[in-house]
Formats: sequence, C-alpha cells, structure tokens
Amino acid sequence: MEKKRKKLVILGSTGSIGLNTCEVVRSLRGDFEIVGLAARSSVELILRQIEEFHPRMVALADEESADGLKRKAPPTTEVLRGMDGLKTVAGLEEADLVVCSVVGAAGLVPVIEAIQRGKNIALANKEVLVTAGEIVTRLASEKGCDIIPIDSEHSAVHQCLRGENVNNVRRLILTASGGPFFADSDRDLSNVTPAEALQHPRWNMGNKVTIDSATLTNKALEVIEAQWLFGIDLDKIEIVIHPESIIHSLVEFVDGAIMAQMNEPDMRIPIQYALTYPERMPREVPHFDFLKNNRLTFRQADTERFPCLRLGRQAAAIGGTMPTVLNAANEIAVEKFLKGEVRFTDIPLWIEAAMANHNPIPNPTIEDILAADARERKEKYL
Ligand code: MG
Repeated sequence: MEKKRKKLVILGSTGSIGLNTCEVVRSLRGDFEIVGLAARSSVELILRQIEEFHPRMVALADEESADGLKRKAPPTTEVLRGMDGLKTVAGLEEADLVVCSVVGAAGLVPVIEAIQRGKNIALANKEVLVTAGEIVTRLASEKGCDIIPIDSEHSAVHQCLRGENVNNVRRLILTASGGPFFADSDRDLSNVTPAEALQHPRWNMGNKVTIDSATLTNKALEVIEAQWLFGIDLDKIEIVIHPESIIHSLVEFVDGAIMAQMNEPDMRIPIQYALTYPERMPREVPHFDFLKNNRLTFRQADTERFPCLRLGRQAAAIGGTMPTVLNAANEIAVEKFLKGEVRFTDIPLWIEAAMANHNPIPNPTIEDILAADARERKEKYL
C-alpha cells in the first residue's frame, strides 16, 4: 500500500525557520506535500516556493504584496491577502500539520484558527505561547491537537520527556548560548550596535530572535513557553549558560536521573523531528564528533547584566496579560534598536516601563490579549 503523504501548511515560509522547513521537506520528498504557504511580504521568494511546491493556497499578510503576487502566481495557486488570508491558509481542510514560524504576536490568530480546525501544530513561534499559553494549550487539548515545539530547547525537552510522567520531573533546565556578549563581561553594553548584536556565535537566525538572544529575552520567553508546553511550574524551570550549544536542554527527574538531548546546532534537526513526529526518519548528518566537542561547559546566567531574564520571570509570575505586554514591549524596543532609535541597554528599560504601566487582566480572553498587545504597540517610554 502506498504511504499517505503528510500535508503541510507553512506559515512564515520565507523566514529563517520557513526556509529550513522547505529544505527539510525537500530532503524528505515523497513523504510530505505542501498544500499552503503564508508569509508577510516576500513576493519573489514565495513565488519561487510556489513554483517548486505547487501549494493550493498562499497568503501574504501585506495586502499590497499579495496583490503583486496575484498578478504573477500560476492560476493553480489561489492567492489570499491580509490576516484573513493567513487564517484561511492556517485552517486549510486537507492540512495534517501546520508549521507556524511567523515572527512575533502576529502568529497568534492563525495558530488559534488552525487548532480550532483540529490541526496539529509544529510551533516555532514562541510568542504564541508567551502571550496566550493558557488559552492555546487548553484549546489544543480540547481539540486533541498536538503542539510539537520547533524551538531547539523545547524540542530537546519534548524528546527527553517522551514516555515519562511529567509529575516525575524535578527540574527543566533550558540551556542558553549566552549570545554574543555573555563571554566578554567587561563589555559596555550601552554602546552595542545592531550589527554587533546580530553576530550570534552559534546560531544563524532571523533578526528579531538574534537580538532577543543577545539580550537574553529569548531565554525569558522560552521559560514561559516551556511552562505552557509541558505544564511545569515556573519555579521548576531553570536556565544554564552553555556556550557550545551542543546540549539543547535537560530534564532532571525525581530520582536524580538527568536526560539531555544533544547534537551540533542545526535547526533542521528539531524541524524534522516536529514534521515526522511521532516517527523519526533518517537524515544525512555527519556522525557527532565527541573528540572535537570534548569540552562542554556551563555557567550561571547573569540577571544583573541581562535584566530581561528577571523581567520575564516577573511577567510570568504575575500572569494574565502581563506576558503579552512584556512581549509587545520587547518587539517594539527591538525594532527601535535595529533602527538605531534606542540603545541596546534601553530594551530592558522599555520593557520594565511597559510592565510598570500595565494593569494586568487576569484570565484574559483572546480579545483581551490582542487589545493589550495593540495598545502596547502605541506606547512610547523613552
Ligand atoms: Mg531557542
């Protein structure tokens, strides 16, 4: 009997994770079929993906770009525009798995739509769980949908927890590379330029997540993400700096046993894991070289120098709409930093001011979350 091909939708197909997902699909050709694609505004790039993968439906969030694409796309691919378009692609009838690698809180509405329609989610967008973790995970369990993380740390934890009872977890330990400035503790962070902050030592990623890695906000968001994904209390989630980025995270169990997941840093491995779950498929990677990687080191995270770590935990502990505000304020501050409008060290100050200014709504609805997010984007603190 012929094996049924898994049908995929990729939201955010032209970003770093999206391109890597396409590469994984290419390498597993025959087992996967792309039925829908969505991106923000990259017309030429998505056009090449349409020519290669022949999806039935494509959406661009930017409406003008969508109109441009419509004029160039083959008639066999329907082109939709705006957030409604993204929602429609996310809920495509025939899709088995929706990969969400849209950057920022913009991923929330399409992910909810996909879950409403019973789709399994391969989630690269951590902001979805940071802003609406409770709602999204509850809805997924009601609808019987799997949320399989693509974020390397969470993929590691997911793998360490397979077959385990989550009540037997003593600690989750998320590893962090520390970003480009951790090693040089004498470096004055107030004069860091965007170009310097974009030089990540171990991973090649999109701009937003690379800056988040440099401020360690990324790790703060990942703690919140882990809390919801695995249903683990905040105080059981720890961070350790591991500059080599070989161990992607660890789980310590009540009997003292520790499981770690390791491989050379390569996003295609967690992407493939999420696509093929619950199966595994062969992938052509060189054997791990233990002799070359013979020193794995660990250091404590410095919350004085990287205050976003502390702010993330505070926001998570307060809960309600506070993590949404932390996330939105961070997105805005990062954008301003990349444009040269604020300093690197202003990013945590911006977030802290936003949190001080916000009256969190407990047990928020999606509407409360979207409103808090939208409101935050209009604020100016520095
Ligand atoms: Mg990560």
